[in-house]
Amino acid sequence: MDKTEFKQCFSRRLAEKFAMGVADASPNELYQTLGSLLTSTYSQKWQQTWTDYREAEQKQAYYFSIEFLPGKMLKSNLLNMGWLEMVTEGLAELGIDLEDLAEVEPDMALGNGGLGRLASCFMDSIASMGLPGNGNGIRYEYGLFKQHFVDNYQVELPDKWLHKGNLWEIRKESKAVDVHLGGEVYLVPDAAGNLSPDYQGGMTLRAVPYDTGMVGYQNDIVNTMRLWSVEIPPEEEENYRSIEDRRTVEDLTSVLYPDDSSEDGRKLRLSQEYFFVSAGVQSILRYYKQLNKPIDKINQSVAIHINDTHPAMCVAEFMRLLVDEENLSWERAWNLTQEVMSYTNHTIMAEALEKWSINMMKSVCPRIYQIIEEIDRRFVAEMTGVHDFDLIQRTRIIQDNQVHMAHLAIIGSHSTNGVAKLHSDLLKSVVLHDFYLLYPARFNNKTNGIAMRRWTQLANPALSKVLDETIGNSWRKQPTNLRLLLNYTEDDHVLAALADAKLANKKRLAAYIQEHCGIEVSPQAIFDVQIKRLHAYKRQLLNLLHIIKLYLDLKENPDLPIEPRVFIFGAKAAPSYHYAKSIIKVINETASLINQDPTINNKLKVVFLENYNVSLAERIIPAADVSEQISLASKEASGTSNMKLMLNGAVTIATLDGANVEIRDAVGEENIAIFGLTESEVYQYYENKNYSALSIYDENATIRKVLATLTDGTIPNISAEGYEIFDSLIKYNDEFFVLRDFEDYCLAQESVNKAYQDKRRWRQISLRNIASAGRFSADDTVQRYADDIWQIEPVFAHEDLRGAEHDSYLL
Ligand SMILES: *Cc1c(COP(=O)(O)O)cnc(C)c1O
Repeated sequence: MDKTEFKQCFSRRLAEKFAMGVADASPNELYQTLGSLLTSTYSQKWQQTWTDYREAEQKQAYYFSIEFLPGKMLKSNLLNMGWLEMVTEGLAELGIDLEDLAEVEPDMALGNGGLGRLASCFMDSIASMGLPGNGNGIRYEYGLFKQHFVDNYQVELPDKWLHKGNLWEIRKESKAVDVHLGGEVYLVPDAAGNLSPDYQGGMTLRAVPYDTGMVGYQNDIVNTMRLWSVEIPPEEEENYRSIEDRRTVEDLTSVLYPDDSSEDGRKLRLSQEYFFVSAGVQSILRYYKQLNKPIDKINQSVAIHINDTHPAMCVAEFMRLLVDEENLSWERAWNLTQEVMSYTNHTIMAEALEKWSINMMKSVCPRIYQIIEEIDRRFVAEMTGVHDFDLIQRTRIIQDNQVHMAHLAIIGSHSTNGVAKLHSDLLKSVVLHDFYLLYPARFNNKTNGIAMRRWTQLANPALSKVLDETIGNSWRKQPTNLRLLLNYTEDDHVLAALADAKLANKKRLAAYIQEHCGIEVSPQAIFDVQIKRLHAYKRQLLNLLHIIKLYLDLKENPDLPIEPRVFIFGAKAAPSYHYAKSIIKVINETASLINQDPTINNKLKVVFLENYNVSLAERIIPAADVSEQISLASKEASGTSNMKLMLNGAVTIATLDGANVEIRDAVGEENIAIFGLTESEVYQYYENKNYSALSIYDENATIRKVLATLTDGTIPNISAEGYEIFDSLIKYNDEFFVLRDFEDYCLAQESVNKAYQDKRRWRQISLRNIASAGRFSADDTVQRYADDIWQIEPVFAHEDLRGAEHDSYLL
């Protein structure tokens, strides 16, 4: 298709949909028009992909995740369809700026942070690698809350992202399934003498899927992300007359849990988990049965992935369907289940390892509880005599009246993986060590990755252009080819071109900051970025304490030779996470203090951008000079913003945590600022129980001076929060060893300051970071999942049934 054709089609579609011409249309009408042109075009390929998978009887993977965080999809789809340039130019000729129209799309924010973003990067990469893999999740009416600051406090507003409709989704009523929740269940013998479940009471709800096409990168593949929404089945209408009754049902897929690390409103959360698990597994089974293949070969056609523990009930639901509905023997069903299931662990934080009380699970899904009990009973019987009693007690699924979801996921699957080398090693040696003793072969590592296309081609066209001009465009398909850039470390022309691209991005961010915060920042300053969920273990507080130190130093000595720096934060705190919200308040108050202090002479600025989300990340990351990855070693499973920032030429200041270790290995020690305790030093403190924040405080005058500002009125309006934070450090002994790492962090920051002052050296370091980021492509990560865990292949991997050439998308 060419530009002329596109312009005609676009104008015609606008007239059909809205009965108007380009001149009269609003950005939203233009967005709707373009979007509908895209969906109606890729639908063909989508249908073809379905057909191909079915006819080739392709084994498919289903990625179950309670979160997906795709952000905006318009430009990503344009890029993957190969239309981006043509549409940008075509629209321009019609007097339309694609950016204006892209801006209208609401972020699809059905996730909290890294977990959901990873799931969406994987969706893009699975399709782009031509792999048969689909998403399965929940279509929340409301996405993650919108964050505002009022009096420097976080305030949460609902995210009505479906307000104007969602043009990417298709409601598939014909694919709906029913899910049973609550009530009681009895086992009664049937005619053949087998026990079968008899359900009493409870409610039957309809799960209706909304499918979204996941368009592969210029390869004609369109996979499916299936999100489930709850409805009242028509035949049940009379049971739901009152508004309250209907509300109870609708709540099920109403809000995304705004907290990924601790649980409130627990019963609703558990119901959400069972709802999307049951709907997803049922629909997979129904599809499989349509293929007319024997049920006991289902492991050759289906791989189900459990992304963190939230979908762990897949194990029991799959068993339920095979045993109760398909009449397989328990043993056969169990073997199939283990072969089909695989599990990714995302955290070592104890509070995020899900446990449900027996009573609650019985009340939400009684049959599932019975099955878990039986799995647990058989596990204990099987292990008894093979392993020692204590080990079995520690690893069983049901303990202390609670169901341990990670145990269910590990016992019921053939693969458990961590998300970075260090994290996977910690799983084996500490967190899941007991399970490693039972099942050493199940454990493996799959270091996270990012959808390179979104974080360079879409987010950073300026950099992409320099890359094309320098090393050709092969990196767009093969990100490891970014290595070619290393041939140019001494090329001042290339170094300058990269620096110009960075400067342009910084100017753009500076304008955004001016517009949204009313703060003027110089694009010449160092842009120092920490963007991620607000959490104590991620240690935004460490960053803040260093800022306060710089401020005090500058007050004492205004001529201090430091490069002007702009500290940029983006972070949401879970609404119920009081401490995290106090940190936000204190950062904001510190920002007000510093930004308005004329004696600082613009050497320091602090900017906390509201409502951090994928779109904001796409704006900030290309403009970053410094990437803050400063979690306490052992606490961040992997991190992915570290990869995105590196790819965009930011220099990382980091602890040896999560994937930072692999980033250091990739880029080399001289091109990253590493500081702080190592994971083994952290564990030594735990073992010896000899961490004393108070003695560090007593011995370190700088720390005393910095902490004093929290309570002595230096920072205004934080009388409660200042004490709260001070107490967390001194009275409650600084859970995340902020004070222990403080001095080392300040030294690392000084080295960053010094490196920046040597412009050429800085540019070389930045270049080496870009050149070394290719190994973190999610394309490669999902290929490793496909090979090692799912055993799936691209359709037509062996036969060339379809033309080898991508025939592009035709209108
Ligand atoms: C990448 C990303 C994250 C994950 O950031 P981490 O620093 O790895 O925790 C969270 N939120 C958004 C919007 C992202 O794009």
